[in-house]
Amino acid sequence: MLRGMQYTGHTGWAMLRAEETNMLPKTSVAMVQTARRTLERRDLPIPAVGDDDAILEVEACGICGSDCEQFEGALPAPLPVVPGHEPLGRIAAIGDGAAKRWGVDVGDRVAVETLIACQACATCRSGQYQRCPDFRVYSLIPLADAPGLWGAYSQYMYLAPTSIVHRVDPSLPASTAALFNPLAAGFRWSVEIPETGPGQTVLVMGPGQRGLASVIACREAQAEKILVTGLAADARKLEVARSFGADMTIDVENDDLHERVLEATDGRGPDVVIDVAPYTPQPILDAVELVARGGTIVIAGIKGSNALSGLLTDTIVGKEITIKGASGATSSAYRKAIACIESGRLPVERMHTHDFPLEEAERAIRTLAREFPGEESIHSCLIPER
Ligand SMILES: [Zn+2]
Ligand SMILES: [Zn+2]
Repeated sequence: MLRGMQYTGHTGWAMLRAEETNMLPKTSVAMVQTARRTLERRDLPIPAVGDDDAILEVEACGICGSDCEQFEGALPAPLPVVPGHEPLGRIAAIGDGAAKRWGVDVGDRVAVETLIACQACATCRSGQYQRCPDFRVYSLIPLADAPGLWGAYSQYMYLAPTSIVHRVDPSLPASTAALFNPLAAGFRWSVEIPETGPGQTVLVMGPGQRGLASVIACREAQAEKILVTGLAADARKLEVARSFGADMTIDVENDDLHERVLEATDGRGPDVVIDVAPYTPQPILDAVELVARGGTIVIAGIKGSNALSGLLTDTIVGKEITIKGASGATSSAYRKAIACIESGRLPVERMHTHDFPLEEAERAIRTLAREFPGEESIHSCLIPER
């Protein structure tokens, strides 16, 4: 398996497994963000692997709201950079050390976690690697930081030594398998963090990818009743939510939210409320009013600079409400998400609406951001050409 010692530049001398490294092209087509709202096609060198790292041949890169924020500059990235933080692909080359630690080999299909934690600090060693003070994030590491291919808007990307990868059934369509990322967020935010289980009622505020993923996760956790809110323009997403098992969907522009929710919960309010609505803080006020006594509110929607005003904290005190923030997913949620997709129990692929070629990354982002009248994606992927 080994082809001997080789100097690999950034990681020094290493024994290489990578019999297939010889078959890798020298360069990868990548879409590089060079400025706000600007992506350029470039050919970037594919690095040789060391003992502890790997190269992924990207099969699909999921696109989410963070891609829109990065494109707009609202999520500042050091430029130029290769975006793309939801990679699904096959191991194209891997060092012996990484192969052993990660339990994968050349040719295996894997889902890659977004976060690169140090795995060495006290926080990481305690198992809370998502709170690592030295974490890095795929898609936010600039080209200038060798070896440069730190994002999945590319045919190939670099996998750093402390990456976390999960095997995924190679027989699944790539765009279905790529749902692992939003689904993992759904499992962590709506099930793991609020400890949702049988007999509980859940209100999901916002029917985007993460809201729909929360419906799937709560259904898998055997929640008794799942309610989902959206706007009038979200009719299609609310329909998808019902196909995933949502018991009731509420158009907050045309229905009376409070009346409908109290009606559906025998006047008690939901045990768990998940806020995945971007920008507007209003759902948090509604959540505090509506949640059941002793209930839990999880805030995961990003509000930017929109501050929350009008919150009467006495309601939190009086009802003994728990409010938790949630950002990103962790390995247990990734595993649940992948198992859910592989099981085929729910038609998860219904939330996937668009595949775009790599070169059309800009169109993919602008479609998700509703910049093209009449066309909107829920979950979409970039699919690099072979
Ligand atoms: Zn994302
Ligand atoms: Zn750490």
